[in-house]
Amino acid sequence: DKVFVEDLKSTNGTLVNELAVERAELHDGDFVKVGASVFKFTVRSSLEASFHEELYKLSTVDNLTGAYNKRHFLAVLERELSRAERYRRFLTLALFDIDFFKKVNDNFGHLAGDEVLRELSRLVKGSVRKNDTFARYGGEEFALVLPEIGKEDSFDVCEKLRKKVEGHSFSHEGKDIPVTISIGYCTLLPGTSGVKPNAIIEAADSKLYDAKKSGRNKVCC
Ligand code: GH3
Ligand code: MG
Ligand code: MG
Repeated sequence: DKVFVEDLKSTNGTLVNELAVERAELHDGDFVKVGASVFKFTVRSSLEASFHEELYKLSTVDNLTGAYNKRHFLAVLERELSRAERYRRFLTLALFDIDFFKKVNDNFGHLAGDEVLRELSRLVKGSVRKNDTFARYGGEEFALVLPEIGKEDSFDVCEKLRKKVEGHSFSHEGKDIPVTISIGYCTLLPGTSGVKPNAIIEAADSKLYDAKKSGRNKVCC
């Protein structure tokens, strides 16, 4: 019934309450620092745990859709980029945007638009893998970070999603709302290095632009 932290010869060391340790017993309230991350060790009630969980959720999840927010997305993308680079893995970033969403708001009202955003997010969340990160990037723009999959498999994932949205019946107050999305994605090949988050975002965004320009309801790579 004791908990210890042990440093496995890390480059930057492991700190418990600011002191470097090789092995130390943890006590309630201790702060453990590993690299750029700080953890608080707590053995308190599940009430406090759920309080922290709620705080975490508030700072990472978008209120309307339940997708991750942009801030969390950027943190994930940065982490996944350095992981892909270091271990020479594939990494795909897909951006998608609802087609003619202004018309949804104009024809059915803003509340209907909000409902579409929620329903779409529910649909996407239910179809991505656990390792994937689904985030709301802007108003009606979303991002998917897909680790470990190459160009062709990424296309299949995006195309499946595009079809799923196209085939889903969205409605508000009994009225059917046609919804499609355009997707642009970019796959980082193993062995690529020095790619900044902004560069991969811009690449995916320019493919999203291509998808829009070439008729919408499409996937471009
Ligand atoms: P395109 O196919 O080129 O993407 O056309 P679009 O009409 O979707 O164009 P655009 O991306 O410029 O329009 C986005 C619209 O999304 C405008 C804005 O009012 C609406 N929007 C953004 N955020 C929200 C939101 O939270 N709720 C609702 N209801 N609408 C939103
Ligand atoms: Mg848009
Ligand atoms: Mg749009």
